[in-house]
Amino acid sequence: MEKTLSIVKPDGVKKNIIGEVVARFEKAGLKVIGIKMISLTRAGAEGFYAVHRERPFFASLTEFMSSGPVVVMALKGNGAIKKVRDIMGATDPKKADAGTIRKDFADSIEANIVHGSDAPETAAVEISYFFNALETF
Ligand code: ATP
Ligand code: MG
Repeated sequence: MEKTLSIVKPDGVKKNIIGEVVARFEKAGLKVIGIKMISLTRAGAEGFYAVHRERPFFASLTEFMSSGPVVVMALKGNGAIKKVRDIMGATDPKKADAGTIRKDFADSIEANIVHGSDAPETAAVEISYFFNALETF
């Protein structure tokens, strides 16, 4: 069983689609094993997206991610990492497949509703960034 970390970003929370995002994951057979709403500080967002710190969009991205509450969740299931990323769609909603979360709801390549870990190593780091040992199963 694989684990992954997903985030409903501030735009998704503002659009009232927390339940819609969780429902799409659950309908695909994924189990929510930890979930909470938090407000990322700027430093918290910078830490989470540290791999992107040299990218031109880093300042804008971390400002966006700290602009309002987010919902962080740990998910478990067979092939969970790819499943979540398939359900999310491409980073740029204009390039996302029909029926994906980003195609259906995202406004831009930055405000793209949802995050999903991209590999087992990053999933483990990202889950432990938000959840302690008592908070996931
Ligand atoms: P995420 O890591 O959030 O799941 P991703 O893996 O599809 O998304 P990354 O390349 O890891 O995409 O980029 C992280 C986030 O940075 C994107 O989800 C998006 O919010 C933002 N981003 C990526 N590329 C750009 C860009 N060219 N301009 C503005 N923001 C961008
Ligand atoms: Mg990524």
